[in-house]
Amino acid sequence: MTLTTTRRGLLIILSSPSGAGKSTLARRLRAWDPSIVFSVSATTRPPRDGEVDGEDYHFMSELDFRKAVSHGEMLEHAHVFGNFYGSPKGPVRDAIIAGKDVLFDIDWQGAQQMTNSELALHTLSIFLLPPSIAELKRRLESRAQDDVEVIDKRMQKSWDEISHWGSYDFVLVNEDLDETEARLKSVVTAARLRRTQQPGLLDHVRSLQTEFEELS
Ligand code: GDP
Ligand code: ADP
Repeated sequence: MTLTTTRRGLLIILSSPSGAGKSTLARRLRAWDPSIVFSVSATTRPPRDGEVDGEDYHFMSELDFRKAVSHGEMLEHAHVFGNFYGSPKGPVRDAIIAGKDVLFDIDWQGAQQMTNSELALHTLSIFLLPPSIAELKRRLESRAQDDVEVIDKRMQKSWDEISHWGSYDFVLVNEDLDETEARLKSVVTAARLRRTQQPGLLDHVRSLQTEFEELS
């Protein structure tokens, strides 16, 4: 039986206002299942301390970013907080062909572009809400990786992002981190069992039918 080898990769989309916990939960999900491929986005924003080019983001100039978009190399792209961000197509295509799931940490505009495309059948979109706006601010400040103006800008924009919560498949309030992680894993586990993610089911049902007919 080839059920597991013929699985189709899921496109897992994680969005939230800045500071709600996307990167943290994305890291935990990949630690739980290292076969999940993280879609390393391209961005024109400068690297934060500790961020590694090619691992956290592909940091690039605006000119290179625009070229990549015009050459059709981005699956989706958006302008967020004054910078460009986009998901390069190549690695996603390779992962899907290999039957692997791909995780995207992208904003609502990117999520919408993917869920309105032919990929929609294979997307799982999850939105993270903070327990409160005060806690969101506390998390942005405690991360201590952006200066005060950048944090203010992200706080001002948080409602823009939150206002799109209703178009996601699942919404998780990230209060207790361990609890949210457990819920995230449950959601991914369930989505992997969708009929559309298991193309091998057809062969299995056919073999059940043959066996059934032979016995009757
Ligand atoms: P963060 O909010 O702390 O994650 O700050 P970043 O500068 O890393 O990301 C800013 C926003 O851009 C977040 O909402 C990310 O989800 C979003 N983002 C990152 N990569 C992409 C991408 O490839 N496409 C889109 N559409 N958004 C992205
Ligand atoms: P995002 O990627 O959405 O901008 P991060 O994952 O960088 O957010 O999280 C922002 C900060 O909040 C980090 O310092 C992270 O450790 C912290 N954090 C994330 N989730 C929780 C949680 N449930 N409780 C407390 N702190 C959290």
